[in-house]
Amino acid sequence: MTKPKNKGNKTTGKKQNRFDNQKGKQHRQQGSPKNVKSKGKPNTNGKQQRGKKSVTENVTCTGLTPEGKGIVEWEGKELEVENLLPGETAEVLISRKGRFTNTELKHVMTPSEDRVNSPSWYYYERGGCQIHHMSNEAQTRFKQKTIDKLMKTFGKPEPIITMDHPYDYRNKNTMTFGLNKKREIICGLYAPNTHRIIPMDGSLIHDPKADEIIQTIKGMMKSFKMQPYNEDTGRGFLRHVLVRVGKNSGEIMVVLVAASPMFKGKNNFVKALRNSHPEITTILLNVNNRSDSMVLGNQEKVLFGKGSITDTLCGMRFEISAKSFYQINPIQTEKLYTKAIKMAELTGEETVIDAYCGIGTIGLVASEQAGKVIGVELNKGAVRDAIRNSKRNGVKNARFYQGDAGEFMVQMAARGEHADVVILDPPRSGSDEAFLSSVVKLQPKRVVYVSCNPETQARDMKYLVKNGYKVKEIQPVDMFPQTAHVETVALLELK
Ligand code: SAH
Repeated sequence: MTKPKNKGNKTTGKKQNRFDNQKGKQHRQQGSPKNVKSKGKPNTNGKQQRGKKSVTENVTCTGLTPEGKGIVEWEGKELEVENLLPGETAEVLISRKGRFTNTELKHVMTPSEDRVNSPSWYYYERGGCQIHHMSNEAQTRFKQKTIDKLMKTFGKPEPIITMDHPYDYRNKNTMTFGLNKKREIICGLYAPNTHRIIPMDGSLIHDPKADEIIQTIKGMMKSFKMQPYNEDTGRGFLRHVLVRVGKNSGEIMVVLVAASPMFKGKNNFVKALRNSHPEITTILLNVNNRSDSMVLGNQEKVLFGKGSITDTLCGMRFEISAKSFYQINPIQTEKLYTKAIKMAELTGEETVIDAYCGIGTIGLVASEQAGKVIGVELNKGAVRDAIRNSKRNGVKNARFYQGDAGEFMVQMAARGEHADVVILDPPRSGSDEAFLSSVVKLQPKRVVYVSCNPETQARDMKYLVKNGYKVKEIQPVDMFPQTAHVETVALLELK
């Protein structure tokens, strides 16, 4: 069946995004074998095949892993194949090296109705978008199913809150710079688990203005004799460019991440960049001479503007510096926070703990409806930002403390303190027993658990359920469309 051209409508599941008329377009119609050839997958390209046992097999995809990879059965084993959808039959190169089996999708014979992009488009655009080859409807189904399955023991989760335009949403956008084999300057994202740069002129989920600025910088480098940094030789200058955008305020921060503080011709560079993009409100130089995968180093110098941007979220103003943690999808964050605070059922009297509070966003938004808010966060800079944000917004009933959330709660419990509601939003690894056991001692009426990793969330909820709490509601929110990640907020009440 030939599908109508991309209209982004519900029945076809076709998408509409700013790349529709670009490089990927020729690959967007389904079914043509030459369009669905993938090449150069990181761990299985031609060269690396030597010395390995490899076979090409026809397989059928029977399901999806929680990471959005296709599951196929081969020789009695379940294998994972990137970019394959349930029901599709495909030719897959399977190669074994020692205990490891790698797979590479070669050709999809019967594309699924849910497929919207071919692997070559995927390859071009894969940076972090593990499931952008699925229609938006299929993504929603996939995420709902993943959460329903994980949370099965607690009850039926609500339908996932989706995003109307599930593209261009990131307010924090980074690209890495390097040279290709022809020694031309490239920028893009690392291929998964490697430091090999996939050249890209944009991403489906990046802010379009941010991508435009990054391309301008790439175009300026030659005339300014600015070399990209080479990780192998340690030579060169520019490592990454990070662009943070205040989606509501319109303020834009550009961070040039360099290997050294010696920035020759910086005034002219800044002038030229501002000429091309007068919308930029601040430019910084960040010096990173580390060899790990961290984008930002510790040294920072403001080259233009105030060195930070502000943005509004749920009616409050937040100052964001280059290093601050700030939710990357503000449209969905507002929906998430609104839901979390509604679950807390605040009447203006309650003592609310905002644990793992980052720069204080949830607690400050909740403060209007609470008696008092106590925030705790490990990162010193974030706590400083939270205190500043509280002053900036004239909040008088919130206090923020630096420390481990678990230890903080243990001390609170030991002092016999009281809390009515605990909101927690831990990192991907989830919370810990010190924290959860102290929650059980403090006996708050309600626990609102926000999580970017439903697996650890389910684990922690199990502990609370064993110790006197009941799960009342589970709400998934699609904070990261085109990727396999899901955010969930759950309400637990004391039995
Ligand atoms: N609630 C915030 C931040 C959530 S991200 C928001 O919505 O923006 C999780 C936060 O937990 C990060 O800021 C991280 O620094 C913090 N964190 C990680 N481990 C911690 C610990 N052991 N104790 C307290 N905070 C921790």
